Amino acid sequence: MSNDKKFIDDKLFTLSSDGLSDENRTNALDTFVKYIEIKTNCFLGYQNSHDFKYEEDIKKFLNYHINNIGDPFIHGNFTMNSKGMEKAVLDYYAELWQAKKPHNPKDPESYWGYVLTMGSTEGNLYGIWNARDYLAGRKLLVDKPNHSHSLRRKEYARAVSIEDNPNAYTPVAFFSEDTHYSIIKAMRVLNVPTFYEIGKRFYPKQNPLNPSGEWTEEFYEVPSVGGKLGSGSIDIEKLAILVEFFASKGYPILICCNYGTTFKGACDDIKTLGEKLMPIFEKYGLIDRTVTYDREKHADIRNGYWIHVDAALGAAYMPFIEMAYKQKKIYYCESVFDFRLPWVNSIVMSGHKWIGAPWPCGVFMTKVKYQLFPPDDPEYIGSPDTTFAGSRNGLSAVILWDYLACNSYESQINKAIRCEDLACYTEGQLKIVQSFYPGLDLWIERTPLSLTIRFRKPNDKIVFKYTLSCQTFLINGSERHYSHIYTMNSTTKELIDEFVDDLKKPDAFAE
Ligand SMILES: *Cc1c(COP(=O)(O)O)cnc(C)c1O
Repeated sequence: MSNDKKFIDDKLFTLSSDGLSDENRTNALDTFVKYIEIKTNCFLGYQNSHDFKYEEDIKKFLNYHINNIGDPFIHGNFTMNSKGMEKAVLDYYAELWQAKKPHNPKDPESYWGYVLTMGSTEGNLYGIWNARDYLAGRKLLVDKPNHSHSLRRKEYARAVSIEDNPNAYTPVAFFSEDTHYSIIKAMRVLNVPTFYEIGKRFYPKQNPLNPSGEWTEEFYEVPSVGGKLGSGSIDIEKLAILVEFFASKGYPILICCNYGTTFKGACDDIKTLGEKLMPIFEKYGLIDRTVTYDREKHADIRNGYWIHVDAALGAAYMPFIEMAYKQKKIYYCESVFDFRLPWVNSIVMSGHKWIGAPWPCGVFMTKVKYQLFPPDDPEYIGSPDTTFAGSRNGLSAVILWDYLACNSYESQINKAIRCEDLACYTEGQLKIVQSFYPGLDLWIERTPLSLTIRFRKPNDKIVFKYTLSCQTFLINGSERHYSHIYTMNSTTKELIDEFVDDLKKPDAFAE
């Protein structure tokens, strides 16, 4: 099988009511594994690392059902779980992201989190769900406990409060134009209105960013610095103007930041963002506001903002870049994104990106004081229903644990530096490719420190060979078709060189 071929013919996998003969079954499996191997060996287009070799240690678990259903910190009734490893993985990231550890349900400042069964998409959904209900004034786990199983459902349903301000419990969401589609999806699933939707509906012709006041489509998301041609990080000045507009109308504020955007690999400056927004939150009573969360008039004190950090890739490797910077092994470093910033409420990371995993997985982390009271208390599993999924993939905790057991900080620092160097090398090589095309701008760009380089989309054969992702940007009214590649742990210099050679061939950028 060569890599010029397209996908395997799906007919090979057709099942029948009699099952398949051994020969057909084995043939299908063998063909498929060859295909996956070829595609993996040439993979450049997405931020997934493949340099893992889990088969030796992990194979033995494949004949067991390992399920971490319920809260990671309570074993519950389902005994075939890997929660011991899950807790170790969570402690590791709590340390790396400088949260207060260990997790202690009695310490509101301590961290809480869990290993995701999906990737960051699940973490984003769960983070935004928590944000929505926290800002909408629903009951928190740290609020007055209620021990009756049967009461809980009813209590969730009526945990809404009333104040003079009709908008006080209607969160408004903000996110940049470079944000991953899973955030927009989460807003839809959870019915969280964005600033654009509220603005257009209730404040027509009052858009503070547009001289005409119109909520035109370009304000569907918060602009990034320099727009489509910029580095990809959120424009904090513009965000602050929008936030102030909605805060002044009494709305609580939900902000989704990026630490490593999907296409450009850009990091939002979450430190400066917080410093800029805190005085605005202060001015409009969004810090330490009193929230009456039930009909019995029980109240607590909490903030009227939530800052969620989508760090699908960045949270896994940028801490090691920071360490490399402190050791003077690298000369630049982004501002921090983690729990050192008191305004960060939740962080998500995908396990199959920087670390690499045979299936999607990830980590969600927040603090005990931000945890919501779960909608129900299923006595059935014997562990609180504090996660998004019911059944959770217990093998994900096993492989993340195994990776962290095999890789010291030092090894992760070295990997991060190698990937940065390779990204730098690739950028240089692509600039050489540009000199082969004097009449054609290849739009080669790399946001500083990111592991991705973007450029004009090559022909379909190259796109398929290297599994390139494609993205169209509308720039000054005309469409630009881009691709990008990521230099991950599994990416070799040899593969970059092969790719660069392919780009020098005469038809490389033919339509
Ligand atoms: C990849 C990515 C996601 C989604 O992660 P999945 O693991 O595919 O669910 C979310 N946000 C960002 C910034 C990403 O790069």
